Amino acid sequence: MADRARIVGAGIAGLGAALRLRAAGWDVEVLERQPILGGKIHCVEHDGYRFDAGPSFLTQPERLDELFALFGERLADHLALEEVDPSVRYWWPDGTTISTPRDREALVAELAKLGATPARIHAYLDELARQYDAIGAPFVDDHVTRPGFWIHPRTITNLPTSMGMLGKTFAAYNQSWFPDAPKLVQFLGRYATYAGNDPFRAPAFMASIADVELRQGIWYPEDGLRSVPEALVALGQRHGVRFRTSAGVEGFERDGRRVTGLRLGDGVEPADLVVCALDPQHVAGWLERPLSPVPRATSALIWFMGVDAVPGIGLHNLFFSSDYASEFAHIADGAIVEDPTIYVNCSSVMSPSHAPPGKQNWFVMVNAPADAGQDWAGMADSLRPHVVGKLERLLGQRIVVHSESTYAPPDIARTSGAWAGAIYGPAANRLIDLFRKQPARDAELENLFYCGGSSHPGGGIPMCLSSARLAVQTIEAAGLR
Ligand SMILES: Cc1cc2nc3c(=O)[nH]c(=O)nc-3n(C[C@H](O)[C@H](O)[C@H](O)COP(=O)(O)OP(=O)(O)OC[C@H]3O[C@@H](n4cnc5c(N)ncnc54)[C@H](O)[C@@H]3O)c2cc1C
Repeated sequence: MADRARIVGAGIAGLGAALRLRAAGWDVEVLERQPILGGKIHCVEHDGYRFDAGPSFLTQPERLDELFALFGERLADHLALEEVDPSVRYWWPDGTTISTPRDREALVAELAKLGATPARIHAYLDELARQYDAIGAPFVDDHVTRPGFWIHPRTITNLPTSMGMLGKTFAAYNQSWFPDAPKLVQFLGRYATYAGNDPFRAPAFMASIADVELRQGIWYPEDGLRSVPEALVALGQRHGVRFRTSAGVEGFERDGRRVTGLRLGDGVEPADLVVCALDPQHVAGWLERPLSPVPRATSALIWFMGVDAVPGIGLHNLFFSSDYASEFAHIADGAIVEDPTIYVNCSSVMSPSHAPPGKQNWFVMVNAPADAGQDWAGMADSLRPHVVGKLERLLGQRIVVHSESTYAPPDIARTSGAWAGAIYGPAANRLIDLFRKQPARDAELENLFYCGGSSHPGGGIPMCLSSARLAVQTIEAAGLR
C-alpha cells in the first residue's frame, strides 16, 4: 500500500502535519536538518540563563488540543498552560504605561488612558471581534483558493463593513477610529507586526489580529515555549511517528508528476507522499523554479541578556518608539531606526529556573528588515547603547548585564532555514499578497504538499497549525491512498 508519508522539517507545522497524517493511518517519518526538533521554537542557553529564542506569545492553544484529541488524549494531561493576565505591559517614551488585562472593562479602562472614550473603545473592540469571527477565522481556517470561500454567506453578510476597509492601511483604519489618540493608534498598529507586516502598508483587513490577543488571550506553557514542540514530539512518538534529526533534504527523486523519494546526504528516502514544512523558496530551488517574488516579512535583531532582576518587568513588555512611521520606513529601507520599539520577554518571572537566583533572562528584540547582507554585527553594536539606555530611562533603573549574546536575521536563517531570516516568510503588506502564500498542494507534482509559515494562511504558531490542517485536508480530498 502507498502509505509512506514523509515530512520535511520539524517546525510546529511539520509536527502538526505529521500527527494528523499519522492519525489518518499513514506511515509517517519526519526528516529534520537540525539536531533538534521544533524549528524556530528553540532555546539558547548560557551562563545559567535559558532563553526562548523564537516565539514567546502562545495564542489559540485549542489548536494544540485538537492534535491531542486526534489520539484520544488531552493536552492538559501533558502540558500545563497558564493564562497570562494582564498579557503585556507597555511603555511610551513620555512615561505613559498601560497593561492589557483580559477582562473587557479593565482592558477598556487601560486603553482609555491613551486618549479615547470608553464607549468608542468598546465599539472598536466589538467590531474587531465581529471582523475576526466573520473574516479573520474563515481566512485562517479555509483555503482562499477554494471558490466556495468567496460565496459563503458570512463573506457576503460582512461585505458592507469589509468595503469600508478596502484601500485602507492598518494604520489608516485605526486612525479613522481614533483620530485624536495617536498612542492608541500606535498600540493597535503593533498587531500588524504579529505577522511580520508594516502597519503603515498592511491592509486594514488584518486589523482583527488584535482580537486574537485582546479577547482570546495569551498562554504560557510550563517551562516555556520549548515545551510545546517537546509535547508534540512525545505525542507523535507514543503513536508511531518516527523522527530523524540531522537529516537535511537536498532534493527530490521524481517519476513524471510524482515525487518518489527525498535525496539526503547519505542516500534516498522513498516516499509516497511528501509534505514540505519548510520555507518553499528552498523547494523552488530543488525544482529549479523561479523564487517567489513577494518581498519578505520582517525579521528581528535580538540580544539575550542575563541581568540583575528589575522589578516591574513582566513576562511580555513592550517599549514603543517615539516615531512609529519612521521606524517602519527604516525597515522598508533595510535599516533600523535609532529609537526602535523594543520587546522584552522575561520567562524567568514565570519559570524561575530560567535564570540564577536574583537574576532575570531578558530576550530583548527589535523589529528588523530581512537579511540583505547588512552589517548586522555593526548594527547591533551601534544600537545596543540606545536600546539599553531607553530601557534604563523608562524603567528608572540601571540594567546590569552579566551574560549576553546576539541573534540576528542571518542566525534565524541559518538555524531554521527561513529565507533571508524573515520570521514570517513572505510579507502581506499588499492586499494581493495575502492571497499569494504557498497553496497546500503543488501545482505540478501531484503528491507534493506544503504547510508552514510561508504557506497559507501564514506565520505564527496558530496559523502554522492551521496550514498543517489545511494540507492534510487537501491530501485527504486528493484520495492519494
Ligand atoms: C524571534 C521570533 C519570534 C517569534 N514570535 C512569535 C510569537 O510570539 N508567537 C507566534 O505565534 N509566533 C512567533 N514567531 C513565529 C513562529 O515561530 C513561526 O511562524 C513558526 O514557529 C514557524 O513554524 P514552521 O513550522 O513554519 O517553520 P520552522 O519552525 O522554521 O520549521 C522549519 C523546519 O524545517 C527545517 N528545515 C529547513 N530546511 C530543511 C531541509 N533541507 N531538510 C530538512 N529540514 C529542513 C528547519 O531546520 C526547521 O526545523 C516568532 C519567530 C521568531 C523567529
